[in-house]
Amino acid sequence: MQEALAQLKRYWGYDSFRGLQGEIIEHVMAGGDALVLMPTGAGKSLCYQLPALLDDAVTVVVSPLIALMQDQVEALEAMGIRAAYLNSSQSAGESRAIEQAARDGQIDLLYMAPERILSERGIDLLRQCHIGRIAIDEAHCVSQWGHDFRPEYAQLASLREHLPGVPCIALTATADATTRQEILTRLGLHDARVFVASFDRPNIRYTLVERRDARSQLLAFLEEQGRCAGVVYCLSRRKVEETAETLRASGYNALAYHAGMSNELRSEHQRRFLAEDDCIVVATIAFGMGIDKPNVRFVAHLDLPKSIEGYYQETGRAGRDGLDSQAWMVYGLQDVVQQRRLIDDSDADETHKRVMSAKLDAMLGLCETVHCRRARLLAYFDEHQPEGWECGNCDICLDPPVTIDGTELMQKLLSAIYRTGQRFGSGHVIDVLRGQDNVKVQRFGHHDLSVFGVGADLTAQQWRAYLRQAIAAGLVRVDHQQYGSLHLTEQARAVLKGQQPMRLRESLKKAARGTRASKKGGAAAAIPNFKPGSDAEQRFEALREWRREAASEAGVPPYVIFHDRTLTTIAEVNPVDADDLAGISGLGEKKLAKYGFQVLEICKQWP
Ligand code: ADP
Ligand code: ZN
Repeated sequence: MQEALAQLKRYWGYDSFRGLQGEIIEHVMAGGDALVLMPTGAGKSLCYQLPALLDDAVTVVVSPLIALMQDQVEALEAMGIRAAYLNSSQSAGESRAIEQAARDGQIDLLYMAPERILSERGIDLLRQCHIGRIAIDEAHCVSQWGHDFRPEYAQLASLREHLPGVPCIALTATADATTRQEILTRLGLHDARVFVASFDRPNIRYTLVERRDARSQLLAFLEEQGRCAGVVYCLSRRKVEETAETLRASGYNALAYHAGMSNELRSEHQRRFLAEDDCIVVATIAFGMGIDKPNVRFVAHLDLPKSIEGYYQETGRAGRDGLDSQAWMVYGLQDVVQQRRLIDDSDADETHKRVMSAKLDAMLGLCETVHCRRARLLAYFDEHQPEGWECGNCDICLDPPVTIDGTELMQKLLSAIYRTGQRFGSGHVIDVLRGQDNVKVQRFGHHDLSVFGVGADLTAQQWRAYLRQAIAAGLVRVDHQQYGSLHLTEQARAVLKGQQPMRLRESLKKAARGTRASKKGGAAAAIPNFKPGSDAEQRFEALREWRREAASEAGVPPYVIFHDRTLTTIAEVNPVDADDLAGISGLGEKKLAKYGFQVLEICKQWP
C-alpha cells in the first residue's frame, strides 16, 4: 500500500485515502471482485483508477455515456495518467491507434461503452490485451426498475465468460437493497465483496417546501444562492422551456435541457454548463448522469421525483467538491396525484406498478416527515440513526415544524371523503369541508351532509397540506381508474373511531414560515469562506480568472485545471514557493510542473 499512497500523492496530490478507498484498493489489488456502493462525490473512481497505475496491465472501464468517459479521460490526462476511450465519436483511424496502444500496454485505463465492449471487435481486442481488471461504472444501469436502465448493461455478465479469471469491480451511487442484489446477480458477481460507504452527504442541505407560487419561490431561492452553477429539475419539457425562459428574463445564465432538443443543442448546453461557473441548467431527468462537475452548488426540484433513489441521485450531483450545497424542492398535492396517474396509466404489469407506488409513497413520506430529512433518507438506504438523531443541516432540524394534535382534523377529512361516497377528488372534498355552496355541491346534494362546512375555518391550501399527510400516513389512497377519487384505507378506520391519535405538521394560512432556515445557516455562497474584500478573496478571484483563461486555452472545463477546493486552499495558504505548493491537496506532479509557476506569480500580486 506504500506504493499506492505514493501514486496518490504523485498523480492526484492527495495525502491519504478517504473512507473505504484504501480497503477497496487493497482488495482489488489482491485480485478480488468487488461491488462498491458510495455516494456521489465520495471518490469511487479512484478505487479503480489507482490500481490501474500499480501494474502493467490495462484496466477496462465500462461507462454508459460518451460524455462521461470523455470528461474522465480529460481529467486523467491532465494529471499525466495514460488513459483513453473507445466510442462512436471517434474516426476509424483514431480507434485503431488506441487499440494498438492498448495491445502494446501503453494505456493504463481504457474506457469503453458497453455495446462497444460486447461487439465482436471489442471482445477480440480485449483478448489480445493484457487486461488487469474490469471496472463497471454506474453499475445500477443493470437494474430494470431503475430510471437509468441500459439493456446492454444486462449483457455484461457474458464478459466474464470471455475473460475468465479477470477480476471485476462494479461501482454505483444507488444504494437500496433491491438494486444491490440485482447488480450482484446480473453481473454474476457471486463472490464479490460488497463495500458500502455511508451515504450521508453532510455538505448538502435538504429543504423541501410546500408549493405556493413555484416561480417566485424558485426566484427567491436562487436569489439567496448568489451567482453559481446549479440544476433545476422539472417533469415536463414544456415546463423546462418555460422555467429556463423565466430565469433568463430575471438575468440568470439559464439553459434548457431535455430529450426533445436536438443532440447538438443538448451537447452545447451541457458543454456550457461544465465550462461556466454561473450556469443554471433547467432540465428533465434526461440531464445529469455522468455530469462530473464538482462545483454544482444547488439542485432544485420543481416537481416531485418518482422515488427516493431518483431524488437522492439527482440531488447528489450537488457539492461533489465537499463544499456547502443545497438540495431544494417544492412540491404539492398535485404532484402526488400526477405521479400516481403516471403509474396507473403506464402499461407496466401489476408487480411493477406496486413497486413504483411503494417508491412514490416513500418519497411522499420524506416530504411530509416532521423529523430530520437526512435521518429519513439514510434510513431508506438502511443506515439507521439513533432515535431522535438530528443532522442540523436540513430544513426540519434548522427550523422545526410545529406539530399539532390533528386527530379531529383528520376525522373531519376522512368522514368528508366517506360521506361523499369515496367517488370524488380532492377539490370537491375540500369544497364540501369548507362549505362552498357551488353547482357540483348542489347537484349531489352535499350541502345537506353533516360534514358540510365543518372545515370552513381552514383555507383550501391548508386542507391540501393535511390531505397530503393523510396520504403519506396511508389513510387515504388516490384512485386513477376513477379520475383521482379519494378512498379510505383499512387504516383510516382506527382514526375515524378515535382509537388512534394523529400528530400533524401544522399548516399555516400564509407563507409565514420558510426563509428562516436558510438565513440561519447562511446561503451557499459562490465563493466559500472568505471575508469580503480580504486579500484571500482577491487572490481567489485572481486565481479564478487565471483558471478560466488557462482552461479555455487548454480546451477543458475550469475544474480540470484545479477544483474550487484546491483554488480556495491556494488562496488561503498564499504559497510563496514550490514547497508551499507541494503541500496543497489536489496538486499532483504534473499540475505542479505545469501551473505552479503561474500560480505563484498570481499570489505575489496579493501578498
Ligand atoms: P464519485 O465518482 O464517487 O462521484 P469522484 O471519484 O468524482 O467521486 O471523486 C469526488 C471528488 O473527491 C473528486 O474531486 C476527487 O478528486 C476527490 N477525491 C477522491 N479521493 C480523494 C482523496 N483520497 N482525498 C481527497 N480528495 C479525493
Ligand atoms: Zn436534519
